[in-house]
Amino acid sequence: MKANFVDKGASRYVVGKVERFDQKNEMFKRSFWDPKMMDLGRKFYREEVMPTDKPGYRLQDQALVNAAWRLEHSFAQGVKGGKRGLYAWEWDGKFSYPRAPSGLRISVDDPVKVTRELKRAATFFGASLIGVGELDRQWLYSYAYLIYGDDSEPVEKIEIPEESKYAIAIAIEMGYEDIRCSPAHPASAATGAGYSKMASTAGQVAQYIRGLGYQAIPCGNDTACSIPIAIDAGLGELGRNGLLITPDFGPRVRLAKVFTDLPLVPDRPIEFGVWDFCMRCQKCAENCPSGALMFREPREKPNNISNREGVLRWPVNAEKCLAFWAANGTDCSNCIRVCPFNKPPGRLHDAVRWGVKNARWLDPFFVRMDDLFGYGKQVEAGKFWGE
Ligand code: SF4
Ligand code: SF4
Repeated sequence: MKANFVDKGASRYVVGKVERFDQKNEMFKRSFWDPKMMDLGRKFYREEVMPTDKPGYRLQDQALVNAAWRLEHSFAQGVKGGKRGLYAWEWDGKFSYPRAPSGLRISVDDPVKVTRELKRAATFFGASLIGVGELDRQWLYSYAYLIYGDDSEPVEKIEIPEESKYAIAIAIEMGYEDIRCSPAHPASAATGAGYSKMASTAGQVAQYIRGLGYQAIPCGNDTACSIPIAIDAGLGELGRNGLLITPDFGPRVRLAKVFTDLPLVPDRPIEFGVWDFCMRCQKCAENCPSGALMFREPREKPNNISNREGVLRWPVNAEKCLAFWAANGTDCSNCIRVCPFNKPPGRLHDAVRWGVKNARWLDPFFVRMDDLFGYGKQVEAGKFWGE
């Protein structure tokens, strides 16, 4: 890929007219209003799932998942629409501790230094990866779809203040060994813990920025599409599995973001061979239990209203994906588990990463080796508990 193409960030995938996405059409929200999806939604979100004796599906596994989600469900609720708890947009301006006076603001004479300090703070609060991009408003949702189940209106127009010019993208790593249990519960627990850490990290990064005297809007999956924002911020590329692929963790991350008017220095988007590699590797599609992932060439045509138009990629059929989750009694991360980019750092894996970036003619060989070494196979869920 040419440098000027990479510098376009997520717009490198845009091939037609892109409208802002209405969150109502996102798969999980559709299960609340779309007659076609409501049965599945009821089954996945509201029906009780009895534990069984099967490792990975026992009560302790379910308890683990439930506990992993605790912080997101009780103190953030980004999955329900955001704007509350740790994802609240407002702050009363008062430091609770230490008691700095209200209304102070740092002067930003050196945005490089401020950006460096912001990244240090974000890492301190739990970010595994952090990047900064200029906020591209085509990635904002047009409307939020709120499912709080209280008196609040479900549909809300998304309006981010014009001064919020920067989007900070935060990636939270999920445990390699835990994801290897997918589609059993320990992998779902890794997802839940990722969501909880997203909320605490994004909420604390936002609060740090506010303490400097600037606006900050933290969000999880709400308010804007996370993947293009992370691509613009230089965290990775788009993969066949529809996920962000990062150089360090592959798709084994969860994403949050913070919009701000704090003057920052944007990172450059990156390219390290993912698109070309995905053209030759189809492991995620081969191992998707629902057939939700595409083989062969990317395309613009959506599968259904949960995909947006105008983007060249391998569109995920989220209807099929949710059907498997509902049947499985928990979510699934097979498309993360089997991805060759998912592996932890190590001499061999780092060498392969170098090869994928610099010697693309070796891609078919790397795919073959990945299979031969047995990477990506499901690990017995009992191993999570040391059995
Ligand atoms: S989460 Fe599972 S079912 Fe859904 S696309 Fe990924 S592999 Fe397929
Ligand atoms: S499994 Fe293979 S095809 Fe799928 S996203 Fe990963 S590298 Fe791309």
